[in-house]
Formats: sequence, structure tokens, C-alpha cells
Amino acid sequence: MSVPVKEVPFAGTVPSPKTENEGMITGNWRTRRPVLDADKCTNCLICWISCPDSSVNQNADVVSFNLKYCKGCGICNEVCPVGAISLAPELDFED
Ligand code: SF4
Ligand code: SF4
Repeated sequence: MSVPVKEVPFAGTVPSPKTENEGMITGNWRTRRPVLDADKCTNCLICWISCPDSSVNQNADVVSFNLKYCKGCGICNEVCPVGAISLAPELDFED
């Protein structure tokens, strides 16, 4: 049985065709936050397709993170081939 991609629920697969689902907010679980070094990012989108929470946003030049849903699992950090993503303690940030 095939499911049309637009009917796949947010965070039910990677990548999700949806970008928001207020019922799936998981960002408050996070103890570490992904931080991008934009100078290193080649926009290859390996992190985008690997994030289990659809929390990497595609942008024109470099990616960004949707912190409402990012759990800080670190998969993006592991898969980035150029080391453009680091993980910083959540308590280092005020937002
Ligand atoms: S830390 Fe995990 S949840 Fe957050 S953007 Fe990276 S892969 Fe996605
Ligand atoms: S995997 Fe690394 S280089 Fe590729 S888009 Fe993500 S941050 Fe940029």
C-alpha cells in the first residue's frame, strides 16, 4: 500500500512534507542544541534528510534548525560530512 507523501504525518518520517505540528512539540526535551557553522556548510542536505524530527530547514544557502521540535539527538552532528554542526549545552542560551 502506498501513502501519498503529503499525507505522511509530521515527524513520522524523514523528511516530512509538513513543517509544523503543534501536537508534536519536543524541543523542551533538549539538553544540547545544534549550532551551525555557516562558513563550513555546503548545503548538501544530508542533515535535513537524516533528522528524525524534521527539524532541519532547507534554506537558500545554508540550513537552519526548527528548535520547537529539535530534541538535540545529535544525528545531524554525526552525519555532517564537513563538521559544520556542533552541539552546545542548552543552558548556554537564554531563549
Ligand atoms: S539534533 Fe537531532 S532533532 Fe535536532 S536537528 Fe539535529 S538531528 Fe534533528
Ligand atoms: S550536513 Fe553539514 S554541510 Fe550538509 S547541509 Fe547539513 S550542516 Fe550543511
